[in-house]
Amino acid sequence: MWKLSLRRASRFGLVLTFCFGSLVPDQAATKMKLHGYLTGRVDENTLLILDDRIEVTPASRILGKDAAGEHSLNRQELSPGMLVEAEGQWLEKHRFFAEKLTVELGEDEKKIHGSAYLQEAPADAAKIAGGATSELKVDGYWLTLDGHTKRVWSPTKAGEGLAANTPTQNGVLAGYHVKYSGLWRKDGRIEAEEVDLGPPAPADDYKMPHSLEIVTAKDAQTGIDVLEFRQGKKVQGRMKLLAERTVQEYVSHLGDSLIPEGAKGTRRPIEFRFFVVEDPEVNAASLPDGTLLINTGLLGALENEAQLAFVLSHEMAHVLQVHYRREVEETRGARVGLTIAGLAAGAFIGNAGVFMAQIGIASAVNGHQRELENQADRLALQNVIEHGYDPREASNFSRIIINRYGDRTTSKLWSNHDSSVLRGSFLTVQLMREYPEGRWDGTKKNTSAFQAMKDDLGPVKIM
Ligand SMILES: [Zn+2]
Repeated sequence: MWKLSLRRASRFGLVLTFCFGSLVPDQAATKMKLHGYLTGRVDENTLLILDDRIEVTPASRILGKDAAGEHSLNRQELSPGMLVEAEGQWLEKHRFFAEKLTVELGEDEKKIHGSAYLQEAPADAAKIAGGATSELKVDGYWLTLDGHTKRVWSPTKAGEGLAANTPTQNGVLAGYHVKYSGLWRKDGRIEAEEVDLGPPAPADDYKMPHSLEIVTAKDAQTGIDVLEFRQGKKVQGRMKLLAERTVQEYVSHLGDSLIPEGAKGTRRPIEFRFFVVEDPEVNAASLPDGTLLINTGLLGALENEAQLAFVLSHEMAHVLQVHYRREVEETRGARVGLTIAGLAAGAFIGNAGVFMAQIGIASAVNGHQRELENQADRLALQNVIEHGYDPREASNFSRIIINRYGDRTTSKLWSNHDSSVLRGSFLTVQLMREYPEGRWDGTKKNTSAFQAMKDDLGPVKIM
């Protein structure tokens, strides 16, 4: 998902308006929290999270939190890239005084380990297999392999058991699984300690739950284009598609141009489909089978093609990395039973979030665990860079939303902006760390096709 919670913010805003009519908030209630990655350091007393200056003085309590518990840190130990939670007061717009600042130390360890399906074929595949010094781009990171790297890397062995003539049998490793561990280097690369090649994800991982099929149809009464969630002949849900064909075609065309090579490497090639649905929420969603839903509210809020390219890449990464299956496994959550009773003829899904929860994939619109969202963001950054787009537009989009919709000096509801601040600051840190030499001026940001789409879209409701 690419969620920027505006709907909830405004709903709570309304509640607060009533509250303040009769209640005077006490001191504790006016304390604010800010959660995000440090993106810079201005001076000894000032750190940055995107455009917000966080003031830290000797009066501030600074704690480091890791698996062993909490211990105090000094100001000098704070550095860009750390995930922090600041508690304190807004002094003015973009200026926050931290009474207490907690650093989540697990996020900034020297050692890193993870796993991902290869978004593209590794350029150095032969060298990696042969034990030579080589490079591997995986999981949005650059790994350097040398004589010390332990390699469990046999394409033949990893491909065992795959049916003959599947795309994964032709020796191209896009879509294969890689487990890795290593140490961060100063230049942002990872010195690989171990890389372990495994098979692509099972074809079933890309199935919709409950054998739901997603098909386009026409509403019998009104003739408007709809997207239907069908189970056999029964229609379990329907969404309104945007009628503007040119907008649908533009988004599909852009999406197709961004499909990573890894989509061909799955055991059953994924067919990505892109649908613009009428929904004012600034959000996009992906379903396990490669269906992407792009809200009109999102298109209305976007400023350029680079931003849309990033959002589409992010959603495709959720699909290719089988985040739905991982979520079920890692949260030990049981598959939710189908709780909907079907729709009355002619009815539409009132709330996409409620519907997705009913079919057991709430994370499609509400977001996955942070590690999975971060992985989708890293891979999306890599994808847009490879397609010639300006990756800075990814965090700029978060900034636009924060600045336009989050007047945080008056808002009492920090948590509603959490996702935008967290995401924007994560993207900034990732770009600084992985591409320290990045030169983005002159990369693609906008196109006449994007502008034409905005004109055809016209004014839309944004929530
Ligand atoms: Zn997401």
